[in-house]
Amino acid sequence: MNWIIKNSEKEGSGIFANKKFKKNKLVFTFSGNIINWSKANYKSLQIGKNKFINPDKNNPGEFLNHSCDPNCGIKNLNKITAMKNIKLGEEILIDYSTTIGHKHEVECNCKSPNCRKFIKSYKELPKEIKNKYKGWISEYLIEK
Ligand SMILES: [Zn+2]
Repeated sequence: MNWIIKNSEKEGSGIFANKKFKKNKLVFTFSGNIINWSKANYKSLQIGKNKFINPDKNNPGEFLNHSCDPNCGIKNLNKITAMKNIKLGEEILIDYSTTIGHKHEVECNCKSPNCRKFIKSYKELPKEIKNKYKGWISEYLIEK
């Protein structure tokens, strides 16, 4: 197994690297049922305007925590991919704002030095952060 689930300092349980991942390597594919807004919950990954993936029971997706200083980003719509080299035992984290297309505001407690204090939609990210995430956001959010 490339990852293990255990208690996280961030929130509840988290996904932890069970091997090293080099930058640009796939960590896991967030997979499960495709659902719409009405069935989505906090574990769902947004992949379109009214499209979400609800993670399967054997998929680690439901334990994917947020950080304002993540080590993973999104390739395509649901490929959780290393944005930097990841050490053995490091928690796998994405910035939820790289997947959120609707108006959203939830307090953030990620404790990273650059914490934005609130998790908002991709649209609401400051320009310099959008630039930092270029190539690492959900495909459906790419502004043409
Ligand atoms: Zn934060």
